[in-house]
Amino acid sequence: MVRLIFLGPPGAGKGTQATLLAKSFSIPHISTGDILRGAVAERTDLGLKAQAYMDRGELVPDQLLLDMIRNRLNQSDAESGWILDGFPRNIAQADFLDQLLLEIHQSCDAVVNIDVPDEVLVSRLLERGRKDDSEEVIRRRLDVYRSQTAPLIDAYRNRQQLVSVNGNQPIDTVTSELQRLIEHK
Ligand code: ADP
Repeated sequence: MVRLIFLGPPGAGKGTQATLLAKSFSIPHISTGDILRGAVAERTDLGLKAQAYMDRGELVPDQLLLDMIRNRLNQSDAESGWILDGFPRNIAQADFLDQLLLEIHQSCDAVVNIDVPDEVLVSRLLERGRKDDSEEVIRRRLDVYRSQTAPLIDAYRNRQQLVSVNGNQPIDTVTSELQRLIEHK
């Protein structure tokens, strides 16, 4: 049973590593970015509200995320553990998650930070070419990450929950380092 939060800037490889580790631990990979993109594609109410923020590289308003996370963590497959990828992304979301985990009698085993230099991030994202991967939007996402999400790294480090890995290495090297660090947590 393992429960993990993945932090790290856009392009760090969170989604890739979260997918691989979720498979190896047989637990659900919960990506708020994937859920939101699905909602946009299906033109649900959530998707219609979220789209403009995503297109600009801004965070979607917290209120739209909170019910989504609560419902997802209450689904039965999440009883065996989970990897949260893309949430929390600011202090208010982190506070909400603390409260929710208390309520559902769960706790997170480790918060994973994947470290990658900025110039590598930008070139990876430009290569990926997703709809929100234009240079201007990428720059905005990095700014938002630095101002709103990066402060969470210190907060989780102070609680001794942080595990940090160098993400500027081959994919399987990052995966095996992560596996080792998590097992020793
Ligand atoms: P990346 O890892 O490249 O930043 P994601 O796929 O995690 O991309 O997220 C894409 C977009 O979805 C974000 O730029 C943001 O607009 C929105 N988003 C995802 N998760 C959250 C969240 N927890 N809070 C607010 N917005 C979010």
